Amino acid sequence: MGEVAQFLDQPKIQKFMRALARPKYQKWSITRIAERSGLSAMDLLSLWRQANLSKTVMTFIEGGPKVAEETVADAMSTLICCPRCDGFGDIKQPAELNDKGEAVSETLRKTCPTCNGTGSVRKAGDPESRKVVFKAIGILDSKAAVNINNTVNNFPGVASVLDEIESMRKERKTALTLDAKPVP
Ligand SMILES: [Zn+2]
Repeated sequence: MGEVAQFLDQPKIQKFMRALARPKYQKWSITRIAERSGLSAMDLLSLWRQANLSKTVMTFIEGGPKVAEETVADAMSTLICCPRCDGFGDIKQPAELNDKGEAVSETLRKTCPTCNGTGSVRKAGDPESRKVVFKAIGILDSKAAVNINNTVNNFPGVASVLDEIESMRKERKTALTLDAKPVP
């Protein structure tokens, strides 16, 4: 990432990085090395934050396709074992009893009315995942319905993700600006 490179280009940070690698400073604390390189604790925090933020963003981006795949899988309906017949496909029809409680007919088995004898029923996919999928493809949001014929950039799913990335980028820029100022 260009901004990281720019960040690491700052002389104080370069000095700090070099000092970290030198055996001479091995017993020094990181904050002490930072101080000697002209970096304040705040600068150090920014550096740490910057590195982690970049790493975090990359993790999100790299993990995106896998999460999308899993979200789609979660959103899909699945077949589960019929809760009424436990998957056997038929249920017991109790024998008819007379006044004395004696069976006057045989116990019969009849086709399970819940699953029609198949032993399995459909279970709807996770509603939250469904919402996410529909939002991403632009069906759920009313604005998307209006924009459905426009370019893909108008889909709120894409736009909100881009907005988030942009705000993260801005945050990083602020961190850089703070760093460029001399610490009072
Ligand atoms: Zn059943």
